[in-house]
Amino acid sequence: MKHPIVIVGAGIVGASIAWNLARRGENVLILDQNGIGTGATARSFGWINANFAETPAYFALRSAAIDAHHEMEAALGPMATRWCGCLWWEDQGAAFDAHVTELAAFGYEAQVVSPPEIARLAPALAAPPDQAIHVAREGGADGEVIAARLIEDAVAQGGKIWIGPKVTGLLRQGGAVTGVATDHGPLPASQVIIAAGEGAAALTGLPMANKPGLILRTRPLPPILGPIIMAPDVHFRQDAEGRIVAGEIFSGDGPGQASITTDPGALARELLRRIRAHLPGQKIEIERLTLGQRPVPKDGFPAVGPMEEGLYVASMHSGITLAPLIGALVAQEIAERSEAPELRPFRPNRLSPRPENILGG
Ligand SMILES: Cc1cc2nc3c(=O)[nH]c(=O)nc-3n(C[C@H](O)[C@H](O)[C@H](O)COP(=O)(O)OP(=O)(O)OC[C@H]3O[C@@H](n4cnc5c(N)ncnc54)[C@H](O)[C@@H]3O)c2cc1C
Repeated sequence: MKHPIVIVGAGIVGASIAWNLARRGENVLILDQNGIGTGATARSFGWINANFAETPAYFALRSAAIDAHHEMEAALGPMATRWCGCLWWEDQGAAFDAHVTELAAFGYEAQVVSPPEIARLAPALAAPPDQAIHVAREGGADGEVIAARLIEDAVAQGGKIWIGPKVTGLLRQGGAVTGVATDHGPLPASQVIIAAGEGAAALTGLPMANKPGLILRTRPLPPILGPIIMAPDVHFRQDAEGRIVAGEIFSGDGPGQASITTDPGALARELLRRIRAHLPGQKIEIERLTLGQRPVPKDGFPAVGPMEEGLYVASMHSGITLAPLIGALVAQEIAERSEAPELRPFRPNRLSPRPENILGG
């Protein structure tokens, strides 16, 4: 019997690849050492957007990914994603104008809005800015909810999941990758897909520059906030259950600042103070803090594609935004053995033409 396609990683990216392959009738086995959606996916801010894309190809990918979220929801039903739009005024002055110009050049559906419109969109804000960029088609998602739903449906369509085994290396035969070595023994595969987030570096040698990030969730509040808020001092949104989800906008590495790595508690208290200043009169209390690593391929862009025969990698930041599209494109490439032109600029071998597999196998 043909061996399964083995997907390493049950975060939102691996889950989406698995779901897209399973619905094409492919035999998939997902492995994760910890659990579904427990890596960066559960520690993410969850802003679905096509901002800061830098290149036309990356903008096109991110913009198409927003559409892919809706296609996924049409197939599986709503997944707690709030299509609430976003108000952005992180920079002011020339930097604000430059951002408006960049978004217009890409053709993004962004509008500059003035205080009355900002007050209409987000009446709870204590101090609306003089101007903000409003993008109505952006949203906020809880990645772990999406990952769990995708895997549930992949399993319903015949896919398999095994939580527990840590993949320790790759099996090779005749110059091709033929499976994975795990702490539970070897597993042969017809194709290995590494969707291990930051773990891709250890398994494939992909050069990465991961970045830590702290996310704070409050206890649920009544619905008080429409759009996602990207203010200069803090980013926050309200999730489907009423929690305010907030992310730090500085890593705290400057002199006198709380550091994310050495004093995340102080950073969280500062975050809380800032959210309370934006939303006065609300009972805002911390429910949960998470510290995560943003998986970032070395040049900042996604790394998606074959690395050698039998081995495919999909590792990226903005995976909450990108996963539905990436999953569909990867499944197309693997199942049809055809190339998705959208992925051409993002091949992993641009970062390391002959990557060394660090762990061997
Ligand atoms: C603070 C923060 C804020 C973010 N904000 C946003 C945002 O606003 N918008 C956005 O789009 N993206 C955002 N991101 C990025 C986004 O969360 C990630 O790009 C995405 O979650 C990556 O998903 P993934 O499935 O590739 O990786 P992960 O979710 O990390 O999943 C990888 C899985 O692989 C497993 N694994 C790893 N190595 C092995 C091994 N050797 N053996 C077995 N299993 C293994 C892990 O256990 C894990 O479950 C943010 C991330 C962080 C940390």
